[in-house]
Amino acid sequence: MPIDATLPYDPANIFARLLRDEIPSRRVYEDEWAVAFHDIAPQAPEHILVIPRGAYVSWDDFAANASADEITGFVRAVGTVARARGLVAPGYRLLANTGGDGGQEVAHLHVHLFGGAPLGPMLAR
Ligand code: 5GP
Repeated sequence: MPIDATLPYDPANIFARLLRDEIPSRRVYEDEWAVAFHDIAPQAPEHILVIPRGAYVSWDDFAANASADEITGFVRAVGTVARARGLVAPGYRLLANTGGDGGQEVAHLHVHLFGGAPLGPMLAR
């Protein structure tokens, strides 16, 4: 069920729990600003989620309210993960679903990192 990205942050959301190690995840990277882990239901041979450590509902919340250090740290972490997974040369796709029409289901900002095969058209029709 897509979320309303204008609602306040809910610390009980699944990725907040994952950050607190209350639920397991297959982490591939973490630093001061971000954590990256395998998506539980991969939609490409490589499907990694990268999330900021900070409590941000969505891309919109993050873009509006995160500090410059958080934004830099998060963007660098996404690039680091893609590079470390060997995705730069073959290519990859980033996606940040936001709110209802975007199909966002988890109310903690996450960037999908897809790769490992040609990904086809940008949007399914
Ligand atoms: P959204 O639709 O919000 O952009 O994407 C949410 C993503 O989170 C989905 O691709 C879904 O498979 C993934 N996901 C949902 N719950 C969990 C979980 O508990 N662990 C992991 N690793 N991924 C999850």
